[in-house]
Amino acid sequence: MELEAALKQHFGFTAFRPGQKEIISDLISGNDVLGMLPTGTGKTLIYQMAAVLLKGRALVVSPLVSLMQDQVDQFKQAGFKRTVALNSFLDHSDRQAVLKQIDHYQFVFVSPEIIQNPFIRSVLLSVEWSLFVVDEAHCISQWGHEFRPYYLDLADMKKEMGNPLCLALTATATKKVQRDILDHLKMEDAKIHIHSVNRPNISIFVETFDDYEQKLDRTMKLVKQLKGPGIIYTNTRNAAEKLVFALQNEGMNDVSYYHGGMDSDERLLVQKQFLESQLHVIVCTNAFGMGINKPDIRYVIHYHTPSTIEGYVQEIGRAGRDSEPSAAVLLHHPADLEIPYHFVEQELPDNTQVDYVLSDHEPLKENSFAEKIELAGLSETGQRFMEYHLKKAELLNRPDVSIEEKTAIKTMLITKIEERKAEKIKSLKLIERWATSSECKRKELLRYFGEAEADDVENCCSSCDAEISHFYGKQRLPGTSFEFWEDELKRLLRQEVYS
Ligand code: ADP
Repeated sequence: MELEAALKQHFGFTAFRPGQKEIISDLISGNDVLGMLPTGTGKTLIYQMAAVLLKGRALVVSPLVSLMQDQVDQFKQAGFKRTVALNSFLDHSDRQAVLKQIDHYQFVFVSPEIIQNPFIRSVLLSVEWSLFVVDEAHCISQWGHEFRPYYLDLADMKKEMGNPLCLALTATATKKVQRDILDHLKMEDAKIHIHSVNRPNISIFVETFDDYEQKLDRTMKLVKQLKGPGIIYTNTRNAAEKLVFALQNEGMNDVSYYHGGMDSDERLLVQKQFLESQLHVIVCTNAFGMGINKPDIRYVIHYHTPSTIEGYVQEIGRAGRDSEPSAAVLLHHPADLEIPYHFVEQELPDNTQVDYVLSDHEPLKENSFAEKIELAGLSETGQRFMEYHLKKAELLNRPDVSIEEKTAIKTMLITKIEERKAEKIKSLKLIERWATSSECKRKELLRYFGEAEADDVENCCSSCDAEISHFYGKQRLPGTSFEFWEDELKRLLRQEVYS
């Protein structure tokens, strides 16, 4: 069957988006693929359709445990009922039930951490897989902005699965990160489809401030003037909340915040209200946005300069998925990056923490190790990092680890930590330079990703004299505020159940 006909039959779409058809063709002809496609292009459809055409089962590795359930719901809505996510949110009995009938499922979502569990792994390996999908594949690279150590072990899993077809997907990867993905996943012969990160319908504005009061005033003005809906990114949870209160003080009630410190019900409510256009503006940390599929977002404001160019490009990419003109406005203050610089220091363990975790002469026991890591006050990434490397070095539960061996591990860890820090600091310097340069913002972004210059774009960027007033417009919704958010959440959930 022609691919277009299959697209119409299974998804109801009449045409492929750029990149989709080529990648599907390569996969069904038996090739591994590395695909870099901008956010919103429809990466999911690629592996859905490939699995359908291969008449097989797909294991999808994704780092976003909190989003997996949404993904599963979306799959079910799209007609792929035999989809499930195996993650830490499943309680023991549900997990057992899923594992018992694993051969029933066509799509199984997993985190790289959960497949380390020997029992889960053995159940997964007991069935046949046609496709191994690695989503957000930039996480494989220690140079990627969201390094997840267990991604490094995915090649082993692939091999144990009998080397099914492998599809690695990402929206933002520099040349170096692309190379790393291919190396780590052992995809030497993969076909490579790299699409431009350029989004010509998004105009890029950067404004610089040396005073936070002025920046706040400017934000108020922009939110009043710009046609919404919009997203405002801040670097901290606290800043997101404060900004919402400031906007509400100005009479804007259809505004709410979203960050990782809220409980999941609250987050779900805010997300749903935004998707259903009951909220006009969402002020959030980078916890919000991935997997959010709202086509009509007209602007993304960065209240603070984010810490990487990759993160920035992904965040502005949430605007204008409907291809209509949209604006990205960065409000840069030289002090914005102080907090991210501080995070770099905190993300991975320092020498004292490494020393502490490896200090005892006693063998490192797996159960006391967790406690030790907690006592050392490591960040979540820091914990994952330590656990990964100590397991790799087979240091856990071994009674005969010599002092020399421990010292060698310490040195290795400290070197790795220093390398990672240096890379992160380089990223911060690069985005700072980009924000303050007078060059064309778009061309500089493309250059960062190793792309050739794009054709001239209308209303390109603030360096090319684009006019922000093009994006003004009155289209605000009447303010809605939900005092009894539990009731509203129930209403939304009921809607979901019956829809
Ligand atoms: P990504 O993962 O690349 O950010 P998604 O897979 O979430 O993007 O897809 C974004 C949206 O595009 C989804 O609503 C999807 O149904 C839609 N979509 C995907 N492919 C097509 C297509 N060929 N034609 C029209 N819509 C599509």
